[in-house]
Amino acid sequence: MSHALTLGKYSLGMGDRFARQGRAQLAACAKAAARGVTVIPVWNKSNREHVIVGSEPSSVRAEADSAVAALGWNAAYHVDADHINLSTVDRFIAPSDFFTLDVADAIGKPADASSVDAFVQRHGDCGGVFGLTVEKVRAAAVKYLYAVEDAGRIYRRVAEVRGAGAFITEVSMDETDLPQTPDELLVILAAIAAEGIPAQTIAPKFTGRFNKGVDYIGDTAQFEREFNDDIAAIATAVERYGLPANLKLSVHSGSDKFSIYPAIARAMKTTGAGVHLKTAGTTWLEEIIGLAEAGGDGLALAKEVYAEAFSHSAELCAPYASVIDIDTTRLPNPAEVNAWSASDYANALRHDQSCPSFNLHLRQLLHVGYKVAAKMGPRYLDMLTACEESVARNVTENLYARHIERVFLA
Ligand SMILES: [Zn+2]
Repeated sequence: MSHALTLGKYSLGMGDRFARQGRAQLAACAKAAARGVTVIPVWNKSNREHVIVGSEPSSVRAEADSAVAALGWNAAYHVDADHINLSTVDRFIAPSDFFTLDVADAIGKPADASSVDAFVQRHGDCGGVFGLTVEKVRAAAVKYLYAVEDAGRIYRRVAEVRGAGAFITEVSMDETDLPQTPDELLVILAAIAAEGIPAQTIAPKFTGRFNKGVDYIGDTAQFEREFNDDIAAIATAVERYGLPANLKLSVHSGSDKFSIYPAIARAMKTTGAGVHLKTAGTTWLEEIIGLAEAGGDGLALAKEVYAEAFSHSAELCAPYASVIDIDTTRLPNPAEVNAWSASDYANALRHDQSCPSFNLHLRQLLHVGYKVAAKMGPRYLDMLTACEESVARNVTENLYARHIERVFLA
């Protein structure tokens, strides 16, 4: 399959809920470039985030273009319509050149028996890779074929408007309960090829728990084995089914899965594979840290955000229930937080697990609490401007030192 617009080998998805940190985020990629490693910036924002913030996808394009111009970034960059489906894709098509087709909800829906039969007829045991048999291929086809057909419907909708080859396609299946095994991944990729989707990234659900904004919970050794097998599945699929040669894994981490970063870095080193590391809410949390560190009115606003998030926690957590684990007994009372110094607040929130005052419950609540800031509107945005130095420093440092260095420069 030919595809004109090609995603580079190393790429970093950067979410920016309020579209103010584009330059600070890009500065992290610029620091990597200064060390000789090109990490392609991709600004991603999901439909869910747009709905909660009340923003339009075109704002992400405007932010990306202006950050690139301001920093004189001369490598590629992209704007990702993250986690879209057929009912939400349309307003993303014009401003985006990267589309994450989310078909997780379609997993397990039955495909036509005739499509399953045709698939099995054509692919047999998929070469027997990973111990696949015709029966296992059939079982995987029953489970995933409808979802891949769904991805095909979304892909063709975008291609119809933008033209095939004018955008990067990712297929995501990560927001679901059960992980996909490497043998299932191979079958899924065979189906993606058969559907005519020139996928350049695939986001499976990996083994383990990927809660929003906090570290990985699970068996890192098992993750590493599966991650390497997934890379092998991709290499096989590129070879056997003619998918784009640059097809790579996309790790939708919910940000900050630090304990698996060494495994990802090792796998890239030993196999030569690339990776797309998608982060999102980690930048919003750095905004709050930056406001708190600025002290004065910035700190007061950060405290207000926490107090509001605390009193509306049930409502804020509901859309993210499957990807957060908050022990409410470990959340500090707003009265207590109101007495905190700038560094008390920053230390509780900043993702430094070696810091004794780091509180992962507070961090998860604030991670999903961006609606509170969205409701503040200009008051929040003006405070970001007033505290720009402190906010930008934290945003850049977080992406560079905690993400890029550990994954791409290790
Ligand atoms: Zn995702």
